[in-house]
Amino acid sequence: MKPAQLLLQYQRLADRERVLRDSIERIESRLHSDPEVVRLEEIVEAARAVQQAATARLGDSDRAREDHRSKLRTRERELMSGRIRNPTELMQMSEEVQHMKARFAEEEDAELQLMEDAEVADEAMRIATAELDAARARLAEETPALQDELESLRLELAELEADKQRIWAELPPAAQTAYSRQRVHPAVAEVLNSQCTACRVTVTSSGMQLLRKGDEIVHCENCGRILVLA
Ligand SMILES: [Zn+2]
Repeated sequence: MKPAQLLLQYQRLADRERVLRDSIERIESRLHSDPEVVRLEEIVEAARAVQQAATARLGDSDRAREDHRSKLRTRERELMSGRIRNPTELMQMSEEVQHMKARFAEEEDAELQLMEDAEVADEAMRIATAELDAARARLAEETPALQDELESLRLELAELEADKQRIWAELPPAAQTAYSRQRVHPAVAEVLNSQCTACRVTVTSSGMQLLRKGDEIVHCENCGRILVLA
């Protein structure tokens, strides 16, 4: 095989290698940490924080209410005990008890709202956890197939690397240098109907002659790619 044809083969293998490496990386990273699972884990964490905050607020409100309730009872007992005779003092205490009762009713309403918030937070947490469990189950189900695919891609990559090395070793040093120095991609372009298929510029007749002989590396005069007859 002529050097330019070998280079074209080499380039095709290199292109395939890139695709393989991308696929391998994608599967490896998915097996390592599935984006959907990670996303749902973050949602569960956020839902947990909201749930804990709601539970804490409810607990605080419970304790405060319990405290106010026992103070109210104490005051009411004092009021009913008959120990206080002074009418002004009785009036004051009675007002105080009324005030405490009103505040207590307000706190009950607030408590209902807090309980509702806690229920909403519990439900959000339940849904998020169920979705995460489902995503983990899906991944677990797909894992064997992903591992098989990974295995076969790695095998193909190993064979491809060996082929690439073999072809590279067959190339004359001048062809290796010409390929390595190329900065445009793809480095090698086929010539069809006397035209460079990469840039569509016609190859000169002397260029075509050299290409037909095939011993030398011929570059496109326009785009600089290494030419090979299709
Ligand atoms: Zn060209």
